[in-house]
Amino acid sequence: MKSVLITGANKSIGFETARQLLQQGYHVYLGSRTLENGLKAAEQLKSEGLTEVETLQIDVSDSASVKAARAELGNKINVLDVLINNAGMSGGMPQAALEASSEAFRRVFDTNVFGVVDVTQAFIDLLRNSPAPRIVNVSSSQGSLTLANDPANKYYRHKGSVYQSSKAALNMYTIQLAYELRDTPFKVNAVDPGFVATDFNNHRGTGTVQEAGTRIAKYAMLNADGPTGTFVSEEHNPETGEIPW
Ligand code: NAP
Repeated sequence: MKSVLITGANKSIGFETARQLLQQGYHVYLGSRTLENGLKAAEQLKSEGLTEVETLQIDVSDSASVKAARAELGNKINVLDVLINNAGMSGGMPQAALEASSEAFRRVFDTNVFGVVDVTQAFIDLLRNSPAPRIVNVSSSQGSLTLANDPANKYYRHKGSVYQSSKAALNMYTIQLAYELRDTPFKVNAVDPGFVATDFNNHRGTGTVQEAGTRIAKYAMLNADGPTGTFVSEEHNPETGEIPW
């Protein structure tokens, strides 16, 4: 049975992705910043008959927590097949470039960027032991430099300098990671789940967590001939999914 670790999976997009991968026969390590919320989420899934789920407490912005989670998982398994770096935060809007503080940038980068670096590096050895490892970095079309600078794009006037910078940085990290792992069986991709209704945007999103979970799960389950080093958004490009970096 393949295994997957999903960060920030106690609710919203991460939780739904966990549900869909459980339905696909994966064993899910449900990452949760607080143990209590993670245990509740796992109980919910078990009550739906999805029993191959275990909670892993992990605050991605806290390197001690990441190390402890790695040690805990290492006591259970030697092989991890999939890592989904889903945990993320917006930092609250608006974030005008001339007004958002560097402290606000640091706080969001701690989770959206540095957290992904710490988690990926902590779990890479377990992933290397898989015959077909997959890393999905949950990004956003708002992290596209090209779209952000396009007057025709809906986010052109969006004052999201902190969040958008963090996802642009995450995208660059994805490119670097895919490059370093290019001669291995790894597939590493950045996936935009779409603008979906969650706590993240006070449920103003127009899509559903089900759609988002399906988009992410697809890249978690890629075959050997699947892409690596891509940035996809089915919301922006329903045909191929690819959007400009
Ligand atoms: P959400 O409803 O706010 O849920 C975020 C999840 O991440 C929660 O489980 C939260 O845990 C967790 N989290 C935040 N900081 C964390 C940390 N330091 N360590 C561990 N977990 C942490 O957001 P969402 O809509 O599901 O978003 C999930 C991902 O999709 C994010 O990366 C977001 O940027 C991306 N995304 C979302 C949308 C959208 O429209 N919703 C669009 C594009 C991209 P707590 O419950 O403990 O707070």
